[in-house]
Amino acid sequence: MLPNESRFSSVEELKKYFREKVKHLHPDRGGSKEEFLQFISWYEEVSKKLRSSRQVEVVKRCPLTGDYVFSVLEFTVEEIALGGKKKIKIPYEEGICKACGGTGKNKNGRAEICGFCKGSGFVEVFDSRNEKNTYLKCPYCKGLGYLLLEQCQYCLGKGKIKEEKEVVIDIPVGLKEGDILFLPKESVGAISDLYYEVAIKPHPYFVLKGSDLIYKCKIPFWEIMLNEEISILTLEGEEKVPSYLFTRDSPVVLKERGPFLKDGRRGDLLIEFQIIVPHSIPEKAKFFIKKAVEILKQERGGEV
Ligand SMILES: [Zn+2]
Ligand SMILES: [Zn+2]
Repeated sequence: MLPNESRFSSVEELKKYFREKVKHLHPDRGGSKEEFLQFISWYEEVSKKLRSSRQVEVVKRCPLTGDYVFSVLEFTVEEIALGGKKKIKIPYEEGICKACGGTGKNKNGRAEICGFCKGSGFVEVFDSRNEKNTYLKCPYCKGLGYLLLEQCQYCLGKGKIKEEKEVVIDIPVGLKEGDILFLPKESVGAISDLYYEVAIKPHPYFVLKGSDLIYKCKIPFWEIMLNEEISILTLEGEEKVPSYLFTRDSPVVLKERGPFLKDGRRGDLLIEFQIIVPHSIPEKAKFFIKKAVEILKQERGGEV
């Protein structure tokens, strides 16, 4: 009996099962040919489904042979931490370059008179049937009378250009800088297999560290003293947390509010804060701060 396909959550898992099973089923090892063929077609079907829903695989490295396209794909910290969908542009098919109409030459670039027809665009040939001269389009400049000297800058002289199309991919969770993503061509309808090296765009406040996310912020001392709550940024947006948390050591840890991890858990959000104290304080302000300290000392029996 073949297992239920929902048992497999990745192509790798399915492949592992395949390798195990095929050892016993192969006709060379005494298995029945019919059962073997049935197994192969079942495998292909499940594999196709897995690839179409999860088109992206994370692989160790790029193969060094074969036909594929390799480039770098940039992700935001939020995309890495939360997963979800991402629109990307992939090379699609080769079409005629619209800029040069397929000639590979820059229409507005430098040109020179065609030496073959001396710029007339025609050449005189002797027609032996009529025994007289006749004119034909110059085969060298194709009747233009001049030759374009500069390459088309869009297709670099090839006359063809690789067109791109937009596809939406599922972002695998737990990605790290430098990971390689593999998109089989049939999963996204590309012209060849695609490999992308993961790059993470620097974020003004967030930094990924292991399975956690760090949020860096600076808070003026009076905000902590005067407000019940402080606004911070989380992966889910702006949020208010109690101010007293910032009267302790940095970082403040928000459990399971960090990146989603491969094993289904969530990492932590670490709020690394720095308390801002102004360099120079005007005399008038100092006066009130001194007063405030006095009141605090009175209230707490000499200690602040
Ligand atoms: Zn061109
Ligand atoms: Zn010519």
